[in-house]
Amino acid sequence: EPGAAAGHLLLFPFLAQGHLIPFLNLAKRLETQAHRRRLEVTILSTPRNVASLRRAVPAGSRIGFAELPFSPSDHGLPPDTESTEVVPLDAFPTFFFATEKLRPAFEALVTELVARAGRRNVCVLADIFLGWTAESAKALGVQHRVFLTSGAYASAASFSIWLHPPTFAGAGDDEQPLHDFPDEDVRVRYEDFLNVVVTEDPATDPMMAFLCRMVTLNFTHSGGLVVNTSEEIEPKGLRLIGKLSGLPTFAVGPLIGVVAAAPPEDQAAARNEDEDGCIKFLDSKPAASVLYVSFGSQNTIPASQMMELARGLEASGRPFIWVVRPPVEFDGAEEFRAAEWLPVGFEERVAAAGQGVVARRWAPQVAILGHPSTGAFLSHCGWNSVLETLWHGVPVLGWPLVADQVLDSKLLEELGVGVEVASGRMFGGLAGKGWEHVRDAVEAVLGDGEKARRMRRKAAELKEMARAAVSGGEDGEVKGSSVLAMERLLDTAFG
Ligand code: UDP
Repeated sequence: EPGAAAGHLLLFPFLAQGHLIPFLNLAKRLETQAHRRRLEVTILSTPRNVASLRRAVPAGSRIGFAELPFSPSDHGLPPDTESTEVVPLDAFPTFFFATEKLRPAFEALVTELVARAGRRNVCVLADIFLGWTAESAKALGVQHRVFLTSGAYASAASFSIWLHPPTFAGAGDDEQPLHDFPDEDVRVRYEDFLNVVVTEDPATDPMMAFLCRMVTLNFTHSGGLVVNTSEEIEPKGLRLIGKLSGLPTFAVGPLIGVVAAAPPEDQAAARNEDEDGCIKFLDSKPAASVLYVSFGSQNTIPASQMMELARGLEASGRPFIWVVRPPVEFDGAEEFRAAEWLPVGFEERVAAAGQGVVARRWAPQVAILGHPSTGAFLSHCGWNSVLETLWHGVPVLGWPLVADQVLDSKLLEELGVGVEVASGRMFGGLAGKGWEHVRDAVEAVLGDGEKARRMRRKAAELKEMARAAVSGGEDGEVKGSSVLAMERLLDTAFG
C-alpha cells in the first residue's frame, strides 16, 4: 500500500530447537501474509542458531537474521552450548539464567534500529522465557508481543504453575489441581510437569523464581500474546490465557511444517531422508491402517514400558512405524542398540511379517502423518506434533510424558480426536498396566468400533477447520480466523 511505512519485526525465540522452529514458521507466515505492508522480518539468535536457521530457510527467502554474541563458558557452560538440546540436565537453570545476559546486545540492536527506522516502526515478538525483552521494549518505546510456542490451554496451565509454585517438596507422585485454573478436573503431577528443571522445593527453587519473573515481566510490559493455535482449536485455552494475562491474544496458527523440522545437532542433513523405509512401508499398506508411534525429538520412556509397548504393538496385529529412541535409563547419545531395548527378536519378527518398521531415532514425521495409509498416531503430544496431526486429520493415542504434553493430551480428548493410553514419564506412564492395555488401545483407535469411527470423523472435521483458519485473503476470498488475527496483530503493532 502506497504511503504505508515499512515496519520492522524482530523475532526473538528462546534458545531451543522446539522454539526456533515455530518462530521460523512464524517468520515464513509473516513473509507471505505481510509482504504488501513492506515489513522486514528479522530473527535474532546466537551465532550457532543463526547458522542452522539460515540453512533451514528456503532459497529466495527475505527473512533476515541478526546475531547476538553469547559466550557459554562465561556462564560455566560447555563451549557451543547455545540450545537446550545440548545442555546437560543439571545445567538447565544455569542456561536459562545465562540467556538474560543477552540483554545489553539486544537493547543495543533495538536502539540502533529505532535510530534508523523510528520507534513506531519497530515491534519485538519474543519468547515467553525472554520476559525481560518486554521491559526493554517498553523502555525503548517500541511495541512488544509474546509469541507462545505451546498451545493456549497448556500455556494457561504453565502460567498458573509458574505464578503459583506448589509449596511442597517430594510430593511428585501426587496429582494436584491447578491454582487459579477453572478446569477442576485437570490434575497434574508436579514432578512430571516441571520435569528436571526443578531440583528443590518449588516454592524456593531459583528456576521457578526465574519462570515466575519472566511471566510477570511479560504480563506487565508486553502488548499481547501471539499463539500458534487457532480459535477453532482452542477457544477455551485462548479465553484462559487472556484472562490470566490481562493481554489481548492473537491466534495466528497453526503454523506448521513450513520449514522441514531438522533432527537435533550432529545427525542433521543425513537423517532427513527416509533411511528406515517408512514411506515405502506406508505405500504398501491400505488406507488409514498404520499406527505411527513417536515420543518427539527429545523424550523417551523407561525400558520396562518400552517392552510393554513393543508387546502390545505386536499383539495388536496392526501395522506400525515406531520411532525408537534409547529408554530413559540409557544415555541418549549412545549407539543404537534396539536389540537390548526391545523384546528378543522383536525387530526381526515384525519386519519379516511386514507388520512394523523400527525407525532409528528419527523419522520424516510430517510426511508420515500426511500419508493416506497412516491411520493413527501414538504421540507424546508435544505441541508441534499435535498441530501436525490435526493438520492431517489423524486421530491420536495420547502418551504424554512431561510439561505441557499432559494438557495437550487432555485437549485432544476434549476435541474428540484423542484417547489417552498412558501419562507421565516415570511415576505414571502405563501405571502398572501391561501390554494388553496397549493392544486394546491400538484396537480402539484403529479398529471398526463406534469410538474409532467417531474420532476419525472428528479428525477430518478439525483438519478442514485448521486449514480454513490460515487460508483466504487472496482475491476477495473469505479470510480465515488466523489470517484475520495476523492482520489485527500487524495493525496494532504498527498502528
Ligand atoms: N520430528 C520429526 N521426526 C521425529 C521426531 C520429531 O520430524 O522422529 C519433528 C516433529 O514433526 C515435530 C518436532 O520434531 O515438528 C517435535 O516437536 P514436538 O513439539 O512435537 O515435540 P518435542 O520434540 O519438542 O518434544
